[in-house]
Parts: sequence; structure tokens; C-alpha cells
Amino acid sequence: MHATALRRLTDGETLAFDPTAYTPVDAPPGPEGDPPVLDVQYDYDAAAHELQDLESPWKQRRDVFRWMPVLPVDEPGPVLPAGGTPLVAAPRLAKRFGVGRILLKDETRNPTRCLKDRATAIGMTLAIAQGYEDVYCASAGNAAISLAGFAAHAGLRCHAYVPNIASCTRLAWLRRYGAEIHVSTGNYDQAYAEAERDGARHGWYSRNCALNPFLVEGKKTCAYEIAEELGWDVPDLVIAPSGDGCTLGAIGKGFRELAEMGITLRSPRAVGVQSEGVQPMVRRFHGQNGTRPDGDTEAASIAVRQPRNALRLLQEVRNSEGTLVAVSDEEIGEAQTLLATEAGVVAEFTSAATLAALARLAGSESLAHETVVLVITGGRLDDE
Ligand SMILES: *Cc1c(COP(=O)(O)O)cnc(C)c1O
Repeated sequence: MHATALRRLTDGETLAFDPTAYTPVDAPPGPEGDPPVLDVQYDYDAAAHELQDLESPWKQRRDVFRWMPVLPVDEPGPVLPAGGTPLVAAPRLAKRFGVGRILLKDETRNPTRCLKDRATAIGMTLAIAQGYEDVYCASAGNAAISLAGFAAHAGLRCHAYVPNIASCTRLAWLRRYGAEIHVSTGNYDQAYAEAERDGARHGWYSRNCALNPFLVEGKKTCAYEIAEELGWDVPDLVIAPSGDGCTLGAIGKGFRELAEMGITLRSPRAVGVQSEGVQPMVRRFHGQNGTRPDGDTEAASIAVRQPRNALRLLQEVRNSEGTLVAVSDEEIGEAQTLLATEAGVVAEFTSAATLAALARLAGSESLAHETVVLVITGGRLDDE
């Protein structure tokens, strides 16, 4: 393993690597109220060497453990295979929006139909290696469903904390996988607080994004796959829906690492999309804090009012000269229809926000020669 240290995002402090590291909910926040989230650092010379070794045993894997040299685990866990998803060209959409090339990173093909499985694969690997029998997670739906599926496969108990508005579909998926479900009386942020309280009390393993620093390491493999599939070239833009900020923060990290290791030449512009109803990070990025209270949105997977990995996301977006945009639920709905009818990919409502964001960007700048990757993060419809 090439992980060497943990860097605290709020103040840049470097700590010794520890596979059980975790940010307690009550840890003193950074100057802007952010939790002091940790970021895994690696010996990148050693990692690059191993990544480029054609004889490496990891090259035969198609799941997240293909990228073992940049993962914080000693060996691949006995877990469901996450990752290895296709990049689907969408020429009809490219033509419609005047974009050079649109590629859909189809994360709906993960074991539980969502990109969250990449993070769960790493979390479960660590939970199993550390001897846990119970795992828990707070979630708008997908993270808990992902954890429930992986726990079912590995034979661990899963405790799922979901907001009061979790759809019947999402609850049914949790039941199908045999999870113990705790429906909060409040929203996602309240469910998160309840999960942290119970998890600490019982000593369960946490799959709560951001606070568990190892989960984003799984998500970043999405970037490695995109770059490899493009022949170690990178797209010009990569767009992902952003709630807590872990997903695009992780993808940004993956592309940055590849460039730092000299495997690729640059990073794509990272573009995060939120819904107009709940857009704390869009406002923060554009320096409009506190200008308007958040309302509501049907994009349940990104309806996060207190993002926990905002610093990570903002750093990666700024480093890559990307941006954050907000789109309306109406635009997301139209994009969801177009993805199905003109690209053959059925995305969940939240994930369709990526195409809505691209439509906005294409209206304000020329993308005629650009390659754009939309990360279709999930494919579970709420009325199926
Ligand atoms: C969780 C999730 C996101 C957002 O990820 P964050 O890490 O919260 O920013 C986007 N799309 C889907 C489908 C998700 O489940």
C-alpha cells in the first residue's frame, strides 16, 4: 500500500496514516464551519510506477481494485464488484447542444445502480478487515441502499438512516437487501446527526461520506477509468451532480493525481451542478453566501443543505478552473427525458442535472470542439 499520510482539509495539517481514522461529528470545525475532513496522501512516485507496470496483477481486475496502487487498503476485499462502467457516446445529444462530443459515464451499471458503490466497496473492505459485524450510514437513499446491498453480500448487518421524505421505492430497496431501517422525523441532515449518535454509541463501522476519509478514494476511481478509456487523454469538461461534494471532489482528485503522476497532461474542468432549490455550494462558490434561504427540490440525492465535503469540492473545482451551476427542476426533468429518448440511458432525476448543466453552459460558451463527460451517477427511478 502506498498511502502515507492524512491531510486535514481545514488547515492543511498532516497526520500519520491510520486506516481507522475518522472525523467525529463534534470535531471543531474550520474557519468557515466545515468539518475537519481528512484527505489520504500517497507516495505518488511508487504508485505511478506500479500503475504503469503492465505485469501488475491489478491490471486483470475490472472493478475499483484495478487501481490498488492509489487505494488505502492492503488488499482487495471480498466485496461486490463496483466500477468498470462504460463510457457511452451520445452523438444525438452532442448534435442537439452543439457540443463536440458527449460521453456518459454510466454509473447506473454498478451493483446497486449507483456510483456510491465505488465508495462502499472501499468502506466494506476496511470494515471486514477490521472485524466489524455492523455497518451504518445516513443517506438520502443511494448510499444506504448501496451499503445494504454490499452488507447483504458480505453477511454484515446494515443500519440505514434516511430522511422522512425517503421515497417508497428507496425504502423498498433497503428492505429487499434486509437492512435495518431508521426513518428520521427530519431531513437528510437530521438523519445524519441521528446516525452519528447511534453509530458512536454502538461502535458500528461508518459509511458516512466525508467523515470517513476512505470513501472518496473509491469514488475517484471513476476518473481513472475515464482517462484510461480515453487512452490516457482527458475530457475538457466533467460534470457531476453535487450534494455533500464527495463525488465531484473525488473525481477531481483522481484527475489531479493522474496529472501529478505524469500519466495524463492536464485535468478537465470540473463542473458541479446543484438544483436551484438547494444550492449552498453554488452560492458559496460564487460568493453569494446567505443571499437566499434554500427551498426544495425533487433531486433528492443532492438535496444537501449542510455539505460536508464542500472544501474538497471547492478546491478541486477551483484548481481545475471549473465552476458550479444551479439548474431548475424543470430543466432537470427535460434533461432526464432527453437522456432516455436520445441516448438510451435511463438516469435518476438527480443525475439528469448534468445534462441540464451542460445545456446551460452550451448556451453561454462555445463547446463545439470540446469533449464533455456527464457522470450519470445513478439509475434508480423513484416510481419504478
Ligand atoms: C450521492 C449522489 C450524488 C452526489 O454526491 P455527493 O458526494 O453528495 O456530492 C449525485 N448523484 C447521485 C445519484 C447520488 O446518489
